[in-house]
Order: sequence, then C-alpha cells, then structure tokens
Amino acid sequence: MKIAFIGLGNMGGGMAANLVKAGHNVRAFDLSEDALARAKEVGCATFSAVREAVEGVEAVVSMLPNGRIVRQVYIDDVIGHAPHAATLIDCSTIDVATARAVAEAAHGEGYKMVDAPVSGGIAAAAGGTLTFMVGGERHAFEAAKPILEAMGKAVIHAGDAGAGQTAKICNNMLLAVHMIGTAEAMKMAEKLGLDPQKFYEISSQSSGYNWSLNAYTPMPGVGVDSPADKDYQGGFATALMLKDLRLAMEAADNADAAVPLSSRAAALYEDFAGAGNDGLDFSAIIKTY
Ligand code: NAD
Repeated sequence: MKIAFIGLGNMGGGMAANLVKAGHNVRAFDLSEDALARAKEVGCATFSAVREAVEGVEAVVSMLPNGRIVRQVYIDDVIGHAPHAATLIDCSTIDVATARAVAEAAHGEGYKMVDAPVSGGIAAAAGGTLTFMVGGERHAFEAAKPILEAMGKAVIHAGDAGAGQTAKICNNMLLAVHMIGTAEAMKMAEKLGLDPQKFYEISSQSSGYNWSLNAYTPMPGVGVDSPADKDYQGGFATALMLKDLRLAMEAADNADAAVPLSSRAAALYEDFAGAGNDGLDFSAIIKTY
C-alpha cells in the first residue's frame, strides 16, 4: 500500500521502518531533517511537506507530540489533500476531545479515521510489538487493522472515535497509581526490616500482585530485571507519564469523574518531574521514599 507517515521521532521512526519491512510504499514527512534522513535510510521516500507526502496515498499514519500539532496537521494539510478514500490513523497520545474533533472533521469530508494510541515504548515501536487501542467506526477499524498489525502485536477495537485515547489515558493513570503503591509498599517493608526481595517473592504471588511489582520492579536488584537495574535509564520517561497524567486529569474534569487517588499520583509526578527527574524512567519515583 501507499502510506504517508507523519512524525518520525523516537516512536514513528521505528514504526515507519516496520511498514517498509512489511512491503508498503512509505512516504515520510517530519519537520526534522535528521528524522527524515533516518527514514530515508530505512527505505522511506521523503517529502518536504505533508501535502506532498499524502498525494495519492491509501492511508495516512501519524505519530506526533500533542493534540495541537495533530489538529494542525490534519485540518491544514491532510483533510482535503489526501485522497478521500484514504484511511486516516493517528497513533499519537492526545486529549480525547481533540481526537474526537479531528475525527469529526475527517468524517465530514468522507474519510475513515481512527485514533490508535499505543502501549509500549521505543523498543516496542522498533520491534513491531506495540499494542494499539483503536477508536473509530467498525469499517474504519477494519481498514486500519492490517496496517497496524505490521507495527504491533495486538490491535484492539476500543469503541467509537476517542475510545482509543480514553483507554490509553485510563490505563496509564492506573499504571501511575500502582507504581506509586508498589514503591510505597516496598520501601515500607524495607523500613520495617523485611528484605525487599522476600517482600517481592511473597507479594508478587499474593493479592499485592500487579504489573509494576511483578513485571517492572522499581527497586534495583529486586524482582525482575527492569530500568531500576539500569539506573532508571530507558523505559518510560517520567515526562511522558506526566504528559499522560495531565491528559487524564483534563479528561476526568471534562467527564466529571472522581479520581482522588489518581490526582494525588499526578501531583506526585508533577513534583518528581519538576525536581529535574523528567528524563528518568517513571519507576524512579521510588527514590523519593
Ligand atoms: P518525538 O518527539 O521523538 O517525535 C515526534 C516527532 O514529530 C518529531 O520527530 C518531530 O520533529 C515531529 N513533528 C513535530 N511537529 C511536526 C509537524 N507539524 N509535522 C511533522 N512532524 C512533526 O516523540 P515520540 O517519543 O516519538 O512520541 C510520539 C507520540 O507517541 C507522542 O504522542 C507520545 O506521547 C506517544 N508515545 C510515546 C512513547 C515513548 O515511549 N516515547 C510511548 C507511547 C506513546
């Protein structure tokens, strides 16, 4: 297929390369010359404007930093410029309201559009093992699915437009809460004189079982190998967790949802990032205990 790919950063670069590997003709655009040069190396054709990249395509995939940019790219340069039969797929993590507004604008011009944010970081993007949570009408989901399958290990239809973003931010809000809960429990066990490895062995097989403890243990030398064992380098940056928590707090406000625990988690991540830790893996929040 002829596919335009907009936004070839840490995530988009690997994703576009996987579309090329799957045999697609990928037409890449990014504002960064470096990103474009890397895309060219992996076999993408490169263009100097979105409108050129989307000429004659059957699909557009984007992986951009935020909702303001997604809105601008789609409203100014994709909708009305890509062929109307093209399937539009935004994989960026953005606010639910913008995802819905852009999808509505696309539908108004006859396009199929989905929001398809991902779970998984840079390594999963490069390895083609992302999980996509997809919001949009069934026929748009079916059109996007084979394209997303070339970049991921799971493609799940979450519901209508915006449902992918809703799933993503609710998931990451829960992740923040159980990471902080895990950090608190591990440090308290240690202060009470219990060997943290023993605590891990017991709790990871008891009702304290959770992903942060079992699969991403935040304490160095304890439990599974994780960013904690690499001085909290790599993994999922605190800045990105904070971005998702801010989106979650905004969505909670809009939906009038009560989130007392999650808003506390968001405040703790605001403080942690504000203290200069935004580049560390989000599990490094255990260092504040
Ligand atoms: P990034 O900053 O590395 O890449 C974004 C790219 O978009 C950059 O190359 C930038 O030059 C380009 N860009 C910005 N404005 C543009 C425009 N108007 N037109 C074309 N290109 C433009 O960010 P990333 O880490 O790749 O993240 C991308 C998205 O994926 C974000 O929404 C992020 O929240 C989400 N995400 C990231 C991770 C991760 O681990 N990095 C994990 C899950 C989801």
